[in-house]
Amino acid sequence: MTPDRNAPAKDRIGPIIKGLAKAYPDATIALNFTTPLECVVATVLSAQSTDVKVNEVTKSLFKKYRKPEDYLKVPEEELQEDIHATGFFRQKTRALRGLSQKLLDHFDGEVPGTIAELIQLPGVARKTANVVQSNCFPDELARDPDAGIVVDTHVGRLAVRLGLTEVGPKDAEKIEADLLALVPKKQWPRISYLLIDHGRTICLAKKPLCGDCPIEPLCPSSQEAGEPDLYRVAAGKPRSR
Ligand code: SF4
Repeated sequence: MTPDRNAPAKDRIGPIIKGLAKAYPDATIALNFTTPLECVVATVLSAQSTDVKVNEVTKSLFKKYRKPEDYLKVPEEELQEDIHATGFFRQKTRALRGLSQKLLDHFDGEVPGTIAELIQLPGVARKTANVVQSNCFPDELARDPDAGIVVDTHVGRLAVRLGLTEVGPKDAEKIEADLLALVPKKQWPRISYLLIDHGRTICLAKKPLCGDCPIEPLCPSSQEAGEPDLYRVAAGKPRSR
């Protein structure tokens, strides 16, 4: 029997994943890359940018910069110009050059696969490390005690709306811990992209389209059912119309 929207999260998470997987069978990362280095670079560039913009920029960037050395041998201004369109280009240039130097100095020029190693790279925080590990090093993810789930703005908002966490949408660390406790490990890489696709198409930040939602019967924030939007409640925002 399908649990209702007021059932505990541990009883709803299975049907939620199943419903989202059916609705978004092709859910996956939207950034384009073919190597772990390209994955790190694209993820660093995606901060405060859009995946579409990053993919536009990396199309030519990855032809020019193939190895960590390549990010260091051009003048800083040239790299800034090459990534300018993604925004925060000075900060991102520093991160790309810093992480390239670290890869050469400590990792034989190769991107490492554990979270503990990845977060040693300049500009790589836990979220980026989770993106890189889950997409490029699935075997490491399976055995790494520090492995996790990518929590971006969509994942945070949906975790709150779906009652999968009791904290606010900004507390990414606690949301991740709550999801790790609920979601079976083999689903860790997938759950983020399912929630992201749902957040981009139906469960929109301002006005979720609950009437079109495939997991509406499982959601304690359903506007269709006249429930309060837990995301707006947690964020202290007035109810949307
Ligand atoms: S019912 Fe509405 S608030 Fe709940 S997940 Fe679906 S779209 Fe989002």
